[in-house]
Amino acid sequence: MEKIIFLKYGELSTKKDNRNFFLKILNNNIKHVLKDKVEIKYDYGRMFIIPSENDFTETIAKLKNIFGIQEIVVAYKFSDRSLDAINENIIKILKDKEFKTFKVEVKRSDKKYEIDGMNLRKLIGAHILKNLSNIKVDVNNPDLIVNVEIRLQEVLLYFEGIKGIGGYPVSSLGKGLLMLSGGIDSPVGGYLAIKRGVKLEAIYFESPPHTSEAALDKVKRLAQKLAVYNNDLKLHVINFTEIQEAIYKNIPHDYLITIMRRMMYRISEIIAKKSNAKIIVNGESIGQVASQTLTSLSVINDVVKIPIIRPVACFDKLEIIEIAKKIDTYDTSILPYEDCCTIFVPDHPVINPLKEKCEEYESLIPYKDLIYNAIKNHKTITIKGEEELEFQDLL
Ligand code: ATP
Ligand code: MG
Repeated sequence: MEKIIFLKYGELSTKKDNRNFFLKILNNNIKHVLKDKVEIKYDYGRMFIIPSENDFTETIAKLKNIFGIQEIVVAYKFSDRSLDAINENIIKILKDKEFKTFKVEVKRSDKKYEIDGMNLRKLIGAHILKNLSNIKVDVNNPDLIVNVEIRLQEVLLYFEGIKGIGGYPVSSLGKGLLMLSGGIDSPVGGYLAIKRGVKLEAIYFESPPHTSEAALDKVKRLAQKLAVYNNDLKLHVINFTEIQEAIYKNIPHDYLITIMRRMMYRISEIIAKKSNAKIIVNGESIGQVASQTLTSLSVINDVVKIPIIRPVACFDKLEIIEIAKKIDTYDTSILPYEDCCTIFVPDHPVINPLKEKCEEYESLIPYKDLIYNAIKNHKTITIKGEEELEFQDLL
């Protein structure tokens, strides 16, 4: 009898024609995270993971952060499928377990197995009752469910599984570019996009010397939290100083934010195209600030063609914070480092900006040249999920 882990796919198993495509990607993602420390085999129903050094705890902890997995189950596998062998193995395992009530569940993937499901359940249940003392059957609310799965070549015995994080395997839906600020919302938006199978790259706009190295470090930390789910993360850092100063000097201040965000969108679209990203993802949330009224969103969105996905658009701030805490980005996000937007915030940003005014104001600055320069000089950093980054002492 061999102790193994198997995975249930959940939503993936509903994908009929391209299920194999999803499973291949899931297999690669697991290999990326667990390195060579496991052997993986899979078929349509199950993926089997055999940790090489018996490090079940560490393997399970890592599997819990991989999208596309609905349930992680520790199981015992053996190839003698006779009733005697099943009974004998069950007693071996159960004798060390603490429980007062139980029930047996049988799943027959091999429909031709000689005993039908109902009889098998009864026979195994009776054998357990005969061999262990002080226990009884409770079909409604048992302490322990003994699962017996009869497959073509083998039998699996297992108890309750551990919940996985669900979603689709990263990369299975292609690539997106996340506008990642140091705030609370954008890392959460990024996490939710990764959950739907989108492999992210990220873009961060900095304005040195108005923003500090510590602000960039904060964004790198957030990127690293996302990198755990994303199989590493490429971060594009754009120097936004020249553009921001040109806007600040030449454009009426109630339009600063609107125009700044139009510039961010334009640059993001170009970087997205270069990276083969099909969508931009950001942390905008309806009504949260002046630049996120419906009119603002529409006037800002107007400068790009690429779809903008806003995973937290309809979440309340408290709902966003709840997810930020769950994915452990919250404590970093609330560190008090200035963002390029916060420095140039006007007293009264326009709530209902006009597209025509934006265009008129933008004609006052050579924004195409400025964008060209910013893109030409941009830096790219690859952030690994597992590595310890060297940071300035932020806390
Ligand atoms: P967050 O908490 O995510 O920073 P916010 O409430 O501060 O959001 P804004 O500053 O208006 O809202 O930004 C809206 C979105 O624009 C952010 O969620 C992020 O996706 C993007 N964004 C803002 N500033 C930057 C930046 N410096 N670099 C990259 N993206 C940014
Ligand atoms: Mg922000």
